[in-house]
Amino acid sequence: MAAAIDRYAVIGNPIAHSRSPAIHARFAEQVGHRLEYGRILGPLDGFAAAVDAFRAEGGRGLNVTVPFKLEAFAYARRRTPRAQAAGAVNTLAFDGQDVLGDNTDGAGLARDIAGRLGVAMADASVLLLGAGGAARGVVLPLLEAGVGRVAVVNRTAARAHELAAAFADPRVTGHGYEAFDAAARFDLVVNATSAGLGGEPPPVPAPWFATAALAYEMVYGPRPTAFMLAAQAAGCARVSDGLGMLVEQAAESFRLWRGVLPDTAPVYAALRAELDAAA
Ligand code: NAP
Repeated sequence: MAAAIDRYAVIGNPIAHSRSPAIHARFAEQVGHRLEYGRILGPLDGFAAAVDAFRAEGGRGLNVTVPFKLEAFAYARRRTPRAQAAGAVNTLAFDGQDVLGDNTDGAGLARDIAGRLGVAMADASVLLLGAGGAARGVVLPLLEAGVGRVAVVNRTAARAHELAAAFADPRVTGHGYEAFDAAARFDLVVNATSAGLGGEPPPVPAPWFATAALAYEMVYGPRPTAFMLAAQAAGCARVSDGLGMLVEQAAESFRLWRGVLPDTAPVYAALRAELDAAA
């Protein structure tokens, strides 16, 4: 009798837009693993029941996206240190009764910056815009990558203060936009706000961009975002959207589940070509 195919999925609400099934299908093909990876539209009031049902049907792992990352954190029986630091889980791995929660977003960001983009992170002074789940998830991986400072700046200053306090590390500070030093200089600026694809960019004074080797936007799309355009106009050396982070965080989830890290370069190139074709 043929062995059952291992099943994985991404759960979120909405979920139809998710590129994760296409990414994981490419990874599986590349490393020669037979698996199935689907999409689950999680009911807003029924995350845990939907995950229970998936496990009962033999599901081995889930990627978790908006708005369920906090519920996934609570669902996990044990968590990796980076998930614990993030306070959120984007990857669940199931083995019998065991439920491991991980957060691969920050590792994905760090690998995209240091690897694909080749931007040095050692001792870098980082401006991190936003204090939501995505921002919190990348602080520990940035510190582990050796950055010298992470200044978290957020529209609601109190959330930035809370985030910095949660890390209790002198390298991590929290600020509001207006109260923060307008003459501050950074090597790397990361936009972890959801201002993203539409509307106004976060109100970043031009000097904060001027000396940066890279301005990194976490969202991705066929065109540069307002944040990326503002960074370029302010003289920032290089800008990138978050497509590479998406592919790298997926690769890190794949490694957790399958024990092998796929080659992300061809998958990134294929997705970029698809986005360019949609522009
Ligand atoms: P979230 O928890 O809702 O937090 C949103 C943050 O954006 C808050 O800090 C909010 O400030 C700030 N914000 C929203 N609109 C703003 C504006 N116009 N000006 C200034 N600040 C603004 O969201 P999240 O989960 O952290 O996600 C943030 C973004 O990262 C999303 O777009 C998500 O898609 C993206 N992301 C990408 C990847 C990837 O793989 N590429 C992975 C994870 C997340 P307040 O606190 O003042 O409301």
